[in-house]
Amino acid sequence: MLISAGPDFSLPMRSVMERALSAVWIVTILARCLLMGLYGARIREHLNQRRLELQRAHAEVHRLATRDDLTGLLNRRSIRLCVESEAAHSAGGPPPLALALLDVDHFKAINDTYGHPIGDEVLRQFGLLIAREMRVSDRAGRFGGEEFLVLLRGVANDADAERAAERLRQALKSHAWASIAPGLAVTASVGVAVMRAHESVDQALARADRALYEAKRAGRDRVCVG
Ligand code: GH3
Ligand code: MG
Ligand code: MG
Repeated sequence: MLISAGPDFSLPMRSVMERALSAVWIVTILARCLLMGLYGARIREHLNQRRLELQRAHAEVHRLATRDDLTGLLNRRSIRLCVESEAAHSAGGPPPLALALLDVDHFKAINDTYGHPIGDEVLRQFGLLIAREMRVSDRAGRFGGEEFLVLLRGVANDADAERAAERLRQALKSHAWASIAPGLAVTASVGVAVMRAHESVDQALARADRALYEAKRAGRDRVCVG
């Protein structure tokens, strides 16, 4: 093959020596091609690994930027963005959504009695319970120290909003809190507000906050509608 194809590639093929040198030259080229192929495969594998690491780092940065460290729920900024975006999607009429603000009752006393780590565990389990009890279409975030905001999607009237908030309150109250620390009992007060037409998110939040204050004032461990 070398003898027949050699002249086509302008290889010197006259003497045995020239043919041998050409063969060595071609073998060297083929070996180089093989090495470059292997090197290319290693680079591709290395790049794939880097791409996976970058994707993982990106997911972690996104998690850190949007999630609350302690509970894993959305952080204050993200749950607010969720509410803003949900409210903006209603064309004309009021968006069918309600905002429920939940605040742990006498949480300072829980910290003082059982210690800060137990307080943290209460908040963590409080967050887990909210996530478990709310509907899959709802969204929840930690809005402050021991305050949580739940966006109730598709809720358009006070009766439905109260029912949904009441269900959350009951589930939180009936949790086996004593398994965290003997004698521990946890309740929450809830203020809930159905978003009205032409109302800003701030206005709806303020109504939920006033309803929460009302629930505290009326004795805690209850739901008030704003
Ligand atoms: P109320 O029933 O009126 O809501 O009373 P409260 O004691 O729950 O409310 P208050 O605002 O007096 O106290 C809230 C406490 O929550 C004070 C603060 O130290 C505590 N806290 C806030 N963030 C955290 C946290 O991440 N971990 C723990 N363990 N405690 C926290
Ligand atoms: Mg509280
Ligand atoms: Mg509070």
